[in-house]
Order: sequence, then structure tokens, then C-alpha cells
Amino acid sequence: MSIEKNLKAIKNELQDSPVQLIAISKTKPTEDILEAYEAGQRAFGENQVQELVDKYEILPKDIAWHLVGHLQTNKVKYIAPFVHLIHAVDSIKLLKEINKHALKNNRTIDCLLQVYIAEEDTKFGMDHSEIIELLRDEEFPSLQNIRIRGLMGIASNTDSEKVVKEEFYELKSLFDGLKLSFFRKDDYFDTVSMGMSSDYKIAIAEGSTMIRLGSTIFGKRVTKHFKNND
Ligand SMILES: *Cc1c(COP(=O)(O)O)cnc(C)c1O
Repeated sequence: MSIEKNLKAIKNELQDSPVQLIAISKTKPTEDILEAYEAGQRAFGENQVQELVDKYEILPKDIAWHLVGHLQTNKVKYIAPFVHLIHAVDSIKLLKEINKHALKNNRTIDCLLQVYIAEEDTKFGMDHSEIIELLRDEEFPSLQNIRIRGLMGIASNTDSEKVVKEEFYELKSLFDGLKLSFFRKDDYFDTVSMGMSSDYKIAIAEGSTMIRLGSTIFGKRVTKHFKNND
């Protein structure tokens, strides 16, 4: 199937749901991104800063670029002028750096806090208590150029639907709890980024508001496979 047909098929499935679709274009050439763009897609995601910057520079400027991979503090400056949403904030230190560069660029940068929900080892993401600690950090209220839009999580890479479902349930429950305790009056706290090609249907059933699909749209990645890297 073509990229255009793949996108149509997904849009059909999503029809009445408010779930936002982010097309994850990492490792894919700009021609593929343009094909999706011609089909109407405007939100794209990458997991590496360099690749994101390179693609931003040559592609149409009305694309909303999402960074979905791990972000190192020393690379924030490269994406601060244009990034639409940073999905994987995992420390107050990183958040402060994003705030600093957002201020320099005279912008507010939207961010999601990455929550560690999977069974398997991954260095990235925070657990519940770390998230609460971050939100209670005495410097947090002074970060006026970032906005926490919600949470992001990656479920275990497993065939067990039950495990994946429980992990997404946990993420959505945490989101609901934080909404009540920390963001009750903040309408912008509205995003639960969960669901990839293998598990997005479960994620939607569990309350996802934003799915990140790569291979379902662009086909399998041949050169590099999934790597949650810098
Ligand atoms: C690569 C990637 C995706 C998309 O993966 P697919 O399985 O191809 O849909 C989603 N989220 C993150 C964080 C990724 O790195």
C-alpha cells in the first residue's frame, strides 16, 4: 500500500475520535514525508535531534514537528526555535534548559513528561514519585516559557495485550490524578501520548489522545530499528 492509502486507512479508523495522529518519520526520506504531507498530514515526529533539524530545514514550514526521542540538555538549542511538542521530558534539569532556550526564542514550548510504564529495562522516563517531585520542585513555577501538556509513555514490547493494556491504564490513571492535583484549572493539560503501530488500538481504548505511528504509515524501517537514543 502507498503512504497515502495507509494514512487514509488510519484516518478512517479514527473517524469520530478526537485522537491526534503523529506520523513518525524517523529514518524515512523526505520524499516519503512529502507524500504524507500531500495527503494532508501536518504533524510529524522524529526521535533524533540532528535528523529533526535537517528535515525541518528542507521541508514545508507549516509542518508541526514533534520530538519523540530522548533529548540531551546540550541539544535543546537546536530545536528550540521551531519544535512543536517535546514528548520525552524526563528531568527538571532538562525542563529548565528547554525553558531557557524557549525564552531566548521568545516562545513557549509545549512538553510532555515521559512516564516509565514498561516492564523491560529502559533508561528513560520517570516513575510516579519522580513526576510529582518535578511538579513540586520549587523552581517549577518560575518556568514561564514551558507548558506541560500531559504525559507520554511507551508500553512493553510484548505480545501480551493484557500487559500493554495495564500499562496504558496506569498512564491514563496517572494523567487523571495529576490533572486533579496539579492542573485542575489548566485546560492545556490535555494530552496523553500513547500508542505506536503495534498497540495503538489498545491505547485508544485506554484513553490515548495522541498516537505515534511510524511503520503503519511509512512501512517497516530497514536501516535502523527502534532505538530510544540521543
Ligand atoms: C519509532 C517510534 C514510534 C513509532 O514506532 P512504530 O512502531 O513504527 O509505529 C513511536 N514512538 C516513539 C517514541 C518512537 O521512537
